[in-house]
Amino acid sequence: EKPDWLSRALSRAGVFPQEEAETAIRAGRVSINGRVAKMPLAPVPPGAVVKVDGKVVPVGAPATRVLAFHKPAGVLTSTERQHRTGTVFEVLLPQLPPELAGYSWHAVGRLDVDSTGLLLFTNDDKLVSHATSPDTRLPKRYVATVFSTADDARVEPLRKGMTLDDGPARPAKVVVRDEHTVEVTLTEGRHHQVKRMLGAVGLPVRALHREAVGGIELDIPEGTFRLLSDEEVRDGL
Ligand code: URA
Repeated sequence: EKPDWLSRALSRAGVFPQEEAETAIRAGRVSINGRVAKMPLAPVPPGAVVKVDGKVVPVGAPATRVLAFHKPAGVLTSTERQHRTGTVFEVLLPQLPPELAGYSWHAVGRLDVDSTGLLLFTNDDKLVSHATSPDTRLPKRYVATVFSTADDARVEPLRKGMTLDDGPARPAKVVVRDEHTVEVTLTEGRHHQVKRMLGAVGLPVRALHREAVGGIELDIPEGTFRLLSDEEVRDGL
């Protein structure tokens, strides 16, 4: 493979958009193998160590990175805090090692502030649109703890396809695990959708947890993250 030039390598790696990369390079913030490189067109040899502001950045790595994060309750899927309520970014970003800290991370969809479970993050906007578009029909599996007593008859409307305030919902896969635990798999993701669907059949949700998104299963402790492999991203999303 031909070596990339520096500004393009930085933008491909998701570190900066190309124009910002050029500005950073000209400002002397970028080095290749320990030497400051002030030319945006400087070639980046294979295996070179590139640093921005002294931190190693993963140039030459595949552009798309995806993290699985186990969201705790009580934090917002948002870039901005609300009064005393913090955000998922405030929990995630301080944990990232230097080779992952340079990316600009976006949440793939949202979980409500009180919901827990699998939330993906990526540096790739296209992956966000792909994974969250209802056209993709990527299944998202939730487990809801409900007040009152669930049984198959009660959840039948979710399986048939019910009409919500904002229009018809697709039929959902529903498994009643026990009388207070209902598994719901959706292929779309509207605001508060699981809570609204279960609420509409008299099963208000006490707690909601996401176990899987596509082929990615939650397998890490609450509050922690894991970098997905390229295979997991390719096969699971
Ligand atoms: N449905 C909800 O009601 N809340 C979530 O957080 C996710 C899906």
